[in-house]
Amino acid sequence: MTTAATKPNLFDMNRADCEALVMSLGVKAFHGRNLFKWIHKHGVIDFDAMTDLSRSLRETLRETVDMRLPRIIESHPSADGTIKWVMALHDGQRIETVFIPEGKRSTICVSSQVGCALECAFCATARQGFNRNLAVSEIIGQVWHAARQLGRPPTNVVMMGMGEPLANFEAVVKAMEIMQDDLAYMLARQRVTLSTSGIVPNIYRLREVSEVALAVSLHAPNNALRDQLVPINRKYPLEELLPACKAYVGRDKRRKVTWEYVMLDGINDSLAHAKQLIRLLEGIPSKLNLIPFNPFDGSHFGVSPPERIDSFRQRLTGAGIFAMTRKTRGDEIAAACGQLVGRVDDRTRRTTVA
Ligand code: SAH
Repeated sequence: MTTAATKPNLFDMNRADCEALVMSLGVKAFHGRNLFKWIHKHGVIDFDAMTDLSRSLRETLRETVDMRLPRIIESHPSADGTIKWVMALHDGQRIETVFIPEGKRSTICVSSQVGCALECAFCATARQGFNRNLAVSEIIGQVWHAARQLGRPPTNVVMMGMGEPLANFEAVVKAMEIMQDDLAYMLARQRVTLSTSGIVPNIYRLREVSEVALAVSLHAPNNALRDQLVPINRKYPLEELLPACKAYVGRDKRRKVTWEYVMLDGINDSLAHAKQLIRLLEGIPSKLNLIPFNPFDGSHFGVSPPERIDSFRQRLTGAGIFAMTRKTRGDEIAAACGQLVGRVDDRTRRTTVA
């Protein structure tokens, strides 16, 4: 039985897939490139408006494929210009996407899963549990919507929304390919950043297929503490994580690993921690982002005082590590790091898997 919902979705396809699709329909590959360009570069989702495709090809496409995207159902603008979009997926799940303007830069923070299966102690998404991976169309759909809303593609994409991108490897890699395609969103590789909690084997896999920038949620300078804060560390401890990250940036002097370090009052923010961190990162080309903790309902961590964050940062800078304190953006609309929640309707997978 073929119903509309079971037709292949054009938004799940990269350039090569679109070429293969039209060739299977009996026409030349370049029509597939045109099709790909219409939907991503021009944002056109009406076959009739694709004027350089023949009428018969348009007709066949209409019968063969669909164009299905998430729907923006809420838009929350914040006083600092940040906007959070809540998007509904075909099965009623919800995800969140955040737009962060900064001067000439426009960054979109994209989600990769509905909820998250990792249980980082300080993250609101973790509280939601995990429902499922996003499809390519649901990942690139967030960028498609952002480009339509802004009237142009974003200048940067960070895979830092809900979910662990390296736990949804194939779909994330394919969506990042579309972000970088000249016929689509034209983002240079260093303008796409993937953030991971540290799924080590997939950092090596990523290195084989992609050159996007790598950010890693470090949050602690030793295994004992990281085991508590980022439990995936029990599976992939620092002595495995650090070589993987070092290998990822390779010998290219221009590339660095961005380490994310959430500052939790009295937990990981002392000068002794800073010293351990300096020793840990020795020999790895690094950039450190200190993130002031963003509290959420029911979170039991405290925010490090600004002076402590500053002396921590200065200690690192003094040792030659490039460290910045990240400005908190969009916190009054719950759009800041670790505050994205969406809605996970069905948590059964998590409980049955566990
Ligand atoms: N799962 C991926 C992508 C999430 S990126 C990862 O772990 O890297 C979001 C970043 O915000 C991560 O570094 C995450 O650890 C951090 N974060 C999570 N909760 C936070 C909170 N409440 N305050 C500040 N940062 C937080």
